[in-house]
Amino acid sequence: MSHPLVIANWKMNIPSGGISGWIQNEMISSNDEVDFENKSSYFKFMGIAPPTSHLTELRNLFNFGFLGVQDISKYYDGAKTGDISADMVIEKGCSFSILGHSERREFYNETNSIVSEKLRVCLEKDIMPVVCIGESLEIYNAGKTLDILEIQLKEIFTSISTKKTAVIAYEPVWAIGSGKTPTTDEVNNIHQHIKDIVQSIANIEAVNVIYGGSVNCDNAKSFFQQTNIDGALIGGASLDGKDFLGIYNDFMETL
Ligand code: PEP
Repeated sequence: MSHPLVIANWKMNIPSGGISGWIQNEMISSNDEVDFENKSSYFKFMGIAPPTSHLTELRNLFNFGFLGVQDISKYYDGAKTGDISADMVIEKGCSFSILGHSERREFYNETNSIVSEKLRVCLEKDIMPVVCIGESLEIYNAGKTLDILEIQLKEIFTSISTKKTAVIAYEPVWAIGSGKTPTTDEVNNIHQHIKDIVQSIANIEAVNVIYGGSVNCDNAKSFFQQTNIDGALIGGASLDGKDFLGIYNDFMETL
């Protein structure tokens, strides 16, 4: 694993106690087990992707781990109303971007080809891409998960050549926010296939595959214990600082 990562994706939400509440009241002070003397090193595998409007506030209050965005423009600058460029997010201290989340695909018609363009921008600008792929319930039930993942990966990664790390988030669409998950064995096998497929179609120095979809305090450890699961992308449970830190602690214990 070159870059394991546990990422909080807050989506278009602010934690109920606000950012300072999430950090002070819930995330930090709720956990006595962590050696906070050494926070920089402890949080080196944590990423947080708040709404872009709250990047500065978060960075001012919590200067550890990686800051990221939930999406990025495929363009570099200019007349692209509503977009935020790679340079802009770098200036805000971000070092990763989630790409092609299923909600972007569903609500904004984002295609694999758009995700691929964004991936190239991220690699060029030195922003770690966290590329989301995943199948619908219909595909899962039909036993065609690997076929669909292979199509997604080919359309996004073919002919990519880089010495940088790429993170792929395997997120079955039916598992996101549903409380349902595939078994940890299933996810582990799928992650191995994802790594094999990417190695065969692209030239990438390091590929880490993280899992996303209804990860919570109760099930996180069983995912992290699998050899091919290099971390997690967490939506709902990341809004509670205590839960998110608990998941992160579980991850650190299995490293
Ligand atoms: C997500 O939206 O990427 C996600 C994994 O959400 P949740 O953890 O709520 O299923």
